[in-house]
Amino acid sequence: MKKLIVSCIIVLAAAFAGMAQQAKPDFSKITLVIHGGAGTITRASMTPEKERAYQEALNLALQTGFEILKKGGSSLDAVEASVRMMEDSPLFNAGKGAVFTNDGTIELDAAIMDGKTRHAGTIAGVTNIKNPVSGARAVMEQSEHVMMIGRGAEKFAQEKGLEIVDPAYFRTETRYQQLQRLKDKEKTGLDHSGGSGSTEPIFIEGNKFGTVGAVALDAFGNLAAATSTGGMTNKRYGRVGDVPVLGAGTYADNNTCAVSATGHGEYIIRSVVAHDIAALMEYKKYPVKKAAEEVVLKKLVARGGEGGVIALDRNGNFAMPFNSAGMYRGYIKNGKREVAIYKE
Ligand code: ASP
Repeated sequence: MKKLIVSCIIVLAAAFAGMAQQAKPDFSKITLVIHGGAGTITRASMTPEKERAYQEALNLALQTGFEILKKGGSSLDAVEASVRMMEDSPLFNAGKGAVFTNDGTIELDAAIMDGKTRHAGTIAGVTNIKNPVSGARAVMEQSEHVMMIGRGAEKFAQEKGLEIVDPAYFRTETRYQQLQRLKDKEKTGLDHSGGSGSTEPIFIEGNKFGTVGAVALDAFGNLAAATSTGGMTNKRYGRVGDVPVLGAGTYADNNTCAVSATGHGEYIIRSVVAHDIAALMEYKKYPVKKAAEEVVLKKLVARGGEGGVIALDRNGNFAMPFNSAGMYRGYIKNGKREVAIYKE
C-alpha cells in the first residue's frame, strides 16, 4: 500500500512538472518562415526596384508575424498575420494582386492548420473575402467543418463579421495583362507547353507562381501553417489548387512539422507534398530538411512538378527547398532575419 502511495505521488509530481514545463514559454526557439511563391524568378527578369519592393514586403510580413511570437503569441496568430500582410500587398498572387481565371474573375483559396490540435480550416473559390486566410481560420474555429467553398464560404465569412470587399478590389492591371497574354498564346496555339511538349492548357506564364505562406513555432512549442493564393493564371472555372487541400499545400502537426507549399498545384496535390514530408519524419524519422528535400527535389522533380515548400519542426529547424529558379522566401530566428529570392 505504502509503495502504491509513493508511486502515485511520483507520477503526480512528474505530471505537474510536465505541465509546468509546458506552460513556461521558451523564447529561444521561436521561428517564423515565409514564402511568397516559387517559379522562374531570375535576376534577368527583375529590376532593382522590383527586387527592393519584394524584399520590403517580405520583411514586413516577417516583422509582423514575429512581433506576435516575441510577445508570447501563438504560432496560429503569427502565420495568419504574416499571410494577411502578403495578401494585402499587390505583389503576390494572394488577396489583392491575385491572378485571373480564364473567365476574367479572381477566385481565391486559403488554408490554416494548428499543429497542436491538428484542427484546420480551408476555403476555396471565394471572390469577396478581403483576407482569405482569416476566412479559413473562421472555418476552423467557428464552424464544425474543415472546408467551405464558393458562395457558402462567402456567406459564412460575412456572418462571422469578416471584411467583405467588391471583387474589383483584388484586380491589378499587371495580372490582367498576364491573362491577356496567355489567352493570346492559347489562341495562336503557341507555347502551349512551355517547351515541355505537354498538352496541358496554358496557365503558367513563364512558370511564375506567387502563392504566399507562413509556418511558425511559438514559445509554447506549437507549430502552425497557413497558405493563401489566387491559384494559377487562366485556370478554368471551379479549379481548386493544392493550397486548401490539407496535406498537399498546407499541413501542421506538432509531432512532425508545419509545411506550406507553392508551385504547380495539380502536381502538389497528386504528390501529397506537405503530408509526405510529415510522414517521412513520422515513420522514417527523417530530419525536417532531409524530408522536405526528398519530396521537393526528388519526388516532385521525378513527377515533373515545379515548386517549393517551407517546412519547420518543433525544435525550430527548418528548410526552404525549391526546384524552380527562385522562390520569394525569408525567416526570422535567434535574432537573425534573412530574405532571399534566387537560388544563391
Ligand atoms: N500552388 C498554387 C496553385 O496551384 C499556385 C502558386 O503556388 O502560386 O494554386
